[in-house]
Amino acid sequence: MTHLPETLIDGYRNFMAGRYASERDRYRALAREGQEPHTMVIACCDSRAAPETIFDCGPGELFVVRNVANLVPPYAPDDNYHGTSAALEFAVQSLKVDSILVLGHGRCGGINAALSSDTAPLSPGDFIGRWMNMVAPVAETVSQNETMTESEQQTALERISIRHSIANLRSFPYVKERESKGELTLHGAWFDISTGELWAMNPETGDFSRPDID
Ligand SMILES: [Zn+2]
Repeated sequence: MTHLPETLIDGYRNFMAGRYASERDRYRALAREGQEPHTMVIACCDSRAAPETIFDCGPGELFVVRNVANLVPPYAPDDNYHGTSAALEFAVQSLKVDSILVLGHGRCGGINAALSSDTAPLSPGDFIGRWMNMVAPVAETVSQNETMTESEQQTALERISIRHSIANLRSFPYVKERESKGELTLHGAWFDISTGELWAMNPETGDFSRPDID
C-alpha cells in the first residue's frame, strides 16, 4: 500500500534503477561533503521549464528557487515571509554561488495574468494578483503598446521582467557587494517551451539573443 500517487512511485522506481544507480557515488559524496552548487537559478513554477532539465544538470549543480513568473522581489527586511529572498540569502551568503540566473520562459501564465485586464478568477486579494503587482507598472506600459500583437506583448513582458528581477537582485546588499568584487555574476535567459530555444540576455544592453551552441 503506497501513500503516494502511482505516477510518482513509477518515476521513483525508474530513478533508483537509472539515475541513482549511475550516480550513486556522486550522491554519496554530496551527502558526505555537502553541496557546492555553482549557480543559483530563479525559475518559474511552470512544469514545462525545469532548469535541471534545460541545462542537463545533475545533483549538486544548481541551487534552484522557483516561484510564479520567476520574479525576484526587492530587498525588504520586514516582518513578512520572504521565501525567494531567504533562498537568495542562503545561496549568496552561505553557498557563495558563482552566478545567479533569472530564467524566464514563453507562455508564462503569471505574466499573462499581469498583462490581462480580465483578471478573473484572480482578485486583488489573491496571492497571484498581489505577487504579479511587482511588474504591474511595466505590464501596463506594455499592454498599451498597440504596435505589438498580444503574443509580442507577452514575450516583451517576460523579458522585461527578467531585467526587472536582475535590478531587484542588486537591491540586496550582499549581492551588490559580491558582484562589485567580481565574485558573482548575474544573468538572464528566456526559454521557448515550444522550440526549446534558449535566449540569453546581454548584460550590457539587456537585449536577448541565442547563444551559439554548435
Ligand atoms: Zn511561468
